[in-house]
Amino acid sequence: MGKITGFLEFDRKVEEYAPVEDRIKNYKEFTLPMKEKELKDQGARCMDCGIPFCHSGCPLGNLIPDFNDAVYLGKWEKAAEILHSTNNFPEFTGRLCPAPCEEACVLGINEDPVSIENIEKNIVETAFKKGWVVAEPPESRTGKTVAVIGAGPAGLAAAQQLNRAGHLVTVFERDEKVGGLLRYGIPDFKMEKNIIDRRVDILKEEGITFKTGVHVGVDISATELKEQFDAIVLSGGATVRRGLPIEGADLKGVVQAMDFLKQNNKRVDGIKDLGEEIKATGKDVIVIGGGDTGSDCIGTSIRHGATSVSNFEILGKPPVGRPEGQPWPFWPMRLRTSTSHKEGVERFFSISTKKFVGDKDGNLTGLITSEVEWIREPGKRPTLKEVPGTEKKWKCELALLAMGFTGSEMTVAEQLGLEADARTNIKASEADYKTNVPGVFVAGDQRRGQSLIVWAISEGRQAAHHVDTFLMGKSCLPLKGEGDLPRV
Ligand SMILES: Cc1cc2nc3c(=O)[nH]c(=O)nc-3n(C[C@H](O)[C@H](O)[C@H](O)COP(=O)(O)OP(=O)(O)OC[C@H]3O[C@@H](n4cnc5c(N)ncnc54)[C@H](O)[C@@H]3O)c2cc1C
Ligand code: SF4
Repeated sequence: MGKITGFLEFDRKVEEYAPVEDRIKNYKEFTLPMKEKELKDQGARCMDCGIPFCHSGCPLGNLIPDFNDAVYLGKWEKAAEILHSTNNFPEFTGRLCPAPCEEACVLGINEDPVSIENIEKNIVETAFKKGWVVAEPPESRTGKTVAVIGAGPAGLAAAQQLNRAGHLVTVFERDEKVGGLLRYGIPDFKMEKNIIDRRVDILKEEGITFKTGVHVGVDISATELKEQFDAIVLSGGATVRRGLPIEGADLKGVVQAMDFLKQNNKRVDGIKDLGEEIKATGKDVIVIGGGDTGSDCIGTSIRHGATSVSNFEILGKPPVGRPEGQPWPFWPMRLRTSTSHKEGVERFFSISTKKFVGDKDGNLTGLITSEVEWIREPGKRPTLKEVPGTEKKWKCELALLAMGFTGSEMTVAEQLGLEADARTNIKASEADYKTNVPGVFVAGDQRRGQSLIVWAISEGRQAAHHVDTFLMGKSCLPLKGEGDLPRV
């Protein structure tokens, strides 16, 4: 621990944001850099706890007190080494993670927690700036081959780990560019796409082959891949979107959030041929769904120049602080306000959309809602009840459905004969990531269902260890939280 009194001397500080009126004019990231002294002070706030609960909060088991201390001491290269020992892509999590580590931070019991995520981002950005993030190809090759299907964070992490173990890795991705939801879901204002490109360049230099524009199961059968490769990692994500099958759902203007976001990310990338344009410009927009996807639709609609943006959430409004029954260090279901929420949206809770309304040409003109209440009885699942007399009509020309994903696509699974659960998550235990078919592994959202980037990276790393063991009989690839580095 660098500074014993650090947590008493310094208040929590994180990067500030450019003013709303400036940042909504473009799709660039809008955080304002912090000075090195400020970052060191933030590192000094870490108490180097005897039992660092931040570790257990982090799905990667990041060695948080160690890198906090290194930052406090100004040992940035050491900090980058510690960070990369448990996380392949801290530049993604440092920008996008909801930071369960901070909710578990001991300092958070009676103070603001250590600004772990912000420290993480600044370590990795310093490392890129200084040229410390370089390709590390394996010293020798094993002669074994692995196919990774899907190039989201889970697939990329698995690929890098397996390549490090000396296997020849080929990543198949059906989209034109790699990154999965990082590329085509998350808008540039949350993470500019050159952040993915610079990392993928390193992966290519390390010897990983990327085959983009190849839809496994359609362009090439999964059984063919099974014959060609010694092992397969499935990391295709949870891509089946939840619909809203109510009257008027087929009207022009009722759009799936992912169609809207993906098209916009491609537009920002300079791609011209986008098919029918989906824009919020000059429209009253209603985003249905209060999660990350909904929030990204809000920020994007505001940048399009929507007349108004409203956000509906069927669940009740959660409390700002920790709810009763979800004490520290657990992840609390509390009200989260994103940067997009602060850009000009009205949020409504406990509201259910009953019907979309259109004109004679089939264009959406509005929708009808009711307020709902949740009935909770001990030992029973909560049920939803409409509040009588609360029906309301809203003007709306664009309704964005951001209600999450129900599971994964089954084509590849069916071709390989894989077992799935009732939600179409491919079955494999967290103990070894093995499916029911020998040599086929699964990681990320395709195994655990719709989740987080940090979990995808964690699962990709864990699965890689087990694939390596399957191929070689043993593995030196680290498991969760296994740092092989000396303390600072
Ligand atoms: C709009 C949105 C915003 C989000 N924001 C955040 C956030 O801020 N923070 C956070 O932590 N999480 C966020 N998430 C969740 C996070 O993005 C996912 O949990 C994570 O990307 C899952 O990683 P993955 O690698 O398992 O799958 P994905 O990222 O979904 O990648 C799967 C890849 O597999 C490809 N693929 C699928 N099938 C095939 C096939 N048969 N052949 C070839 N390729 C195939 C797909 O094209 C895709 O590129 C967000 C999700 C969405 C939708
Ligand atoms: S729990 Fe918080 S204060 Fe304790 S070691 Fe982790 S980051 Fe530092």
